[in-house]
Amino acid sequence: MRCLVIADIHANLAAFETVLSTAGTYDEIWCLGDIIGYGPDPNECFDLLRQQRFVAVAGNHDWAAVGRLDLAEFNPAARAAAEWTARELRPENHRFVDSLPVKYLKEGYTLVHGSVRMPIWEYIDEAGVAWDNMALMETRYCLVGHTHVPLLHIDGDSFRKRARTVALDGESVSLKLGDERLILNPGSVGQPRDGDPRSAYMLLDTDSGEATIRRVDYAIGKTQARMYKAGLPDRMAFRLSLGR
Ligand code: ZN
Repeated sequence: MRCLVIADIHANLAAFETVLSTAGTYDEIWCLGDIIGYGPDPNECFDLLRQQRFVAVAGNHDWAAVGRLDLAEFNPAARAAAEWTARELRPENHRFVDSLPVKYLKEGYTLVHGSVRMPIWEYIDEAGVAWDNMALMETRYCLVGHTHVPLLHIDGDSFRKRARTVALDGESVSLKLGDERLILNPGSVGQPRDGDPRSAYMLLDTDSGEATIRRVDYAIGKTQARMYKAGLPDRMAFRLSLGR
């Protein structure tokens, strides 16, 4: 199966549309959560996702918008955006979020937003955290989002007994999945934070084990204009230009 693996769309419709139109052919979308939150088009992003063949898991911002997380855990700008999203969300999309699992196993892959240990909240941003989670994985490979940074965590060998972490930056990075346990993060569609403002996504062939992470330019100004119009925090709009 050829999958389009995406994470952290964050209600950025211009970015999401660009990813779908440039990804080429795929059989199914695997979506790793945070479909909404921060961005100006939550309902439109849900509508577009639901038109595709897909599987998806929930992220912290999805849960925040339907009252399943305490917003006190969010910084003020994120909280303001979550409250705006909650007001905007149509009832059927509210129900859709409620129906999302936090973990999904498919074809030898585990899909979660944060980590296997804490699917909604934990950031796998370094090798030690990755290593801890590898011990809990029921499949060889795990796909995560949440950090908004494309990363590969590789299980350690019997001598080092530690995982190692590799940044996957660049316009197109291809890798072949081997026998080691791996945790792979495709980066963020709608709010990259690795200093590259382009949308990130991954194409994964589950038969050959080949994965490619790509970056694509999208109309950042279009999303920012919609954020200003909606009254979303300026800082959230500005950071899209920086990829931070
Ligand atoms: Zn996110």
